[in-house]
Amino acid sequence: MKENKTAILVVDMLNDFVTGALKCDRGLAIVPKTAELLQGARRANVPVIFCNDAHLKGIDREFEVWGEHAIAGTKGAEVIPELGLCKKDYVVPKRRYSGFFHTDLDLLLRELGVDTVVLTGLHAHMCVRHTAADAFQLGYHIVVATDATDSFTEEDYLYGIKYLHDVYGAKLSTVDDLLKEWEK
Ligand code: ZN
Repeated sequence: MKENKTAILVVDMLNDFVTGALKCDRGLAIVPKTAELLQGARRANVPVIFCNDAHLKGIDREFEVWGEHAIAGTKGAEVIPELGLCKKDYVVPKRRYSGFFHTDLDLLLRELGVDTVVLTGLHAHMCVRHTAADAFQLGYHIVVATDATDSFTEEDYLYGIKYLHDVYGAKLSTVDDLLKEWEK
């Protein structure tokens, strides 16, 4: 039987989301588990793909709601240093909530032969959710690393996770579960 081919999608673990313009203490709290997940993925040759906000200054629609953040080319739009972006990782810049919207993420996943995406990062009920929506609609299986994603509040987090499970059939796994699977 052909094994599922998995990739990790790390959503918006950027300076502006963790310590900058839209800083979030709960985002900071998931950094150690996320780093563990990424290290395990790289060891197991599971591709790590960063879906990063890279907004155009003064233009992007999201600013109407959130104010300016993660402007392309600024420090705020860089992956937080704790996650140590590696040479073999992929970076897909995005200008909307979803990692798929007007980006080449779908093309990249197809060329990597991926059929299952593991979602991590911020925020469970927003960019992670919108990325999951497109992943579902494009036919990917979805796993959520429950202790490597979060939201501004516990309520938003629980709502986000439940929505992903109920609406997109996402499997909810902890980082430890995923690492064990890859070490088999
Ligand atoms: Zn944004």
